[in-house]
Amino acid sequence: MTISNDTSGQAASLAQNPLRVDAARAIIRAAVRPVAAVEHVALRSALNRVLAVDIVSPIDVPAHDNAAMDGYAFAGAVLSNAGAAAARAPLSLAVVGEARAGHPFERACGPLECVRIMTGAPMPAGCDTVVPQELVTRKDSHVEFDAQNVAPGANCRRAGEDLARGRAALDAGRIVRSADLGLLASLGVAEVPVRRRVRVAFFSTGDELRSVGEPLDAGCVYDSNRYTLYAMLERMNVDVDVLDLGVIRDEPSAIEAALRSAAASADVVLTSGGVSVGDADFTARMTATLGDVAFWQLAMRPGRPLAFGRLSAAAPGSSEGGALFFGLPGNPVAVMVSFYQFVRDALIAMSGANAAGPLQFAAASSTPIKKRPGRTEFLRAVAMRDAAGQWSVTPTPAQGSGVLSSMSRANCFIVLAHEQGDVAAGTPVDIMPFEGLI
Ligand code: AMP
Ligand code: MG
Repeated sequence: MTISNDTSGQAASLAQNPLRVDAARAIIRAAVRPVAAVEHVALRSALNRVLAVDIVSPIDVPAHDNAAMDGYAFAGAVLSNAGAAAARAPLSLAVVGEARAGHPFERACGPLECVRIMTGAPMPAGCDTVVPQELVTRKDSHVEFDAQNVAPGANCRRAGEDLARGRAALDAGRIVRSADLGLLASLGVAEVPVRRRVRVAFFSTGDELRSVGEPLDAGCVYDSNRYTLYAMLERMNVDVDVLDLGVIRDEPSAIEAALRSAAASADVVLTSGGVSVGDADFTARMTATLGDVAFWQLAMRPGRPLAFGRLSAAAPGSSEGGALFFGLPGNPVAVMVSFYQFVRDALIAMSGANAAGPLQFAAASSTPIKKRPGRTEFLRAVAMRDAAGQWSVTPTPAQGSGVLSSMSRANCFIVLAHEQGDVAAGTPVDIMPFEGLI
C-alpha cells in the first residue's frame, strides 16, 4: 500500500495545504481489507456480528396461509357468486368447525360453509377469506354478514409473504441487529456463519499520563483516552475484540516495542498522542521505521494531526500486509472526533459490513456560528425538538479540543462542511446525533 501525502520533509507544505477530510476518508477506505475468516456461532451470539454469507430462507414464513383476525374463514368466491341481485340480502354460511393457532381444522370447507377461526390459525383447505367476528351475526349453526363489507382474500396472511423459501432473507455483510436475530429464529436457523471479529489494540502515549488508581503527580493528568476509546469500541454496532496496552512513555524504544507488540496481535492499532511536531512526539517518528505511515495535517477542527498507514510486523493469521495504524491526536475531544470520523467506518468496513454511514440530518442553528471556509468543523452541540416538532441545535459554549465535559453534555456534532462559511442564526446545519454512535 502506498499512502499519499507521506511526511518526511513535507511537514511545512502539508501545514499550508492540509488534507481534506473527504480525501483522507477515501485513502482510508481504499486501504481497508475486510477480514476473511468465518466462524459459526450460536444464534444469540450472532447479535452485532457480520453475516459471512447470504442467509437463504429454507422455509416459507409464514409456513401456511393463516388468519390475520379472529372471525370466520370461507371461500371468497362466494362473495362474487352472491351477485348484485342478492346484494341486499345478508350472506349466510354454515359454521362447520373451528381452527385455532396450532390446531388446524382438518377437513376441507365447502362453498357455503365457514370455519370459526382465530388469529394465526392455518386457513382450512378451500378458504381464502376471513370475515372479522365483529361483522357477523351468529344464528345457531350459521353466521350472517353483509357480503359488501368483505373483499375476497381479506384478512388472510399468505404463506411466504414475509419470507419466501429459497430467497435471500438477509444478505452477506449485514450487521445482525435485533430484528435480524428474530428473523433468523423465524427461519429456524440455530447457527450463523459470521466473519471473525476485528482485533483492535490501543495505547496512550505521554510522560504526563497517569492511570486511574495511581497518585496524580505534579504536572500530570489522568489518562482518559484509553477509556473513551474502550467505550467507543465497545459501543460500536459491530463487535470488535479490544486489547488495551496501557500507557506508554514518550520514549522511542518503549513506543517501538508497544507498536511491534500491538501490530503482532491486532488487525488495527490505535494510539493517542505524539503525532504533532513537538520534541516528544515519537509516535510519528517510530511508525515511519515500522511501516508505511503518513502523517497528515487535516483540514478539520478539532483533530488536525492524524497518522494513518500500515505497520508491517503483523502476526501470522492477521490481516494480510500488516495492521492498519491510526495515530490519533492526544487531546481528548480530538480523539473522539477522529475516531468517529475515520476509525469507526474503517472498523465497520474491515468487519466485512456493508453498513451505511452514521445518521446525519438538518436542524436549525439557534445561534450564529463563525466558520472559516477551507476546513471541516465538528462542533459539540445539543439538539432539541421544539413544541412544534422542529429540530434546533445549539453549540456547547466550550469548544476547546481538551474539554471532554462538553462532549459529555452534547448529544450531537454539528458538521460544517469544508466550503461552508459563517452560519446565520436560524439556518439549517447538518447534525450527526451521538445516540447509537457514542
Ligand atoms: P500530544 O498530542 O501528545 O501533544 O497531546 C496533546 C494534549 O492532549 C496534551 O495536553 C496531553 O496532555 C493531552 N493528552 C494526551 N494523551 C492523553 C490521554 N491519554 N488522556 C488525557 N489527555 C491526554
Ligand atoms: Mg504527548
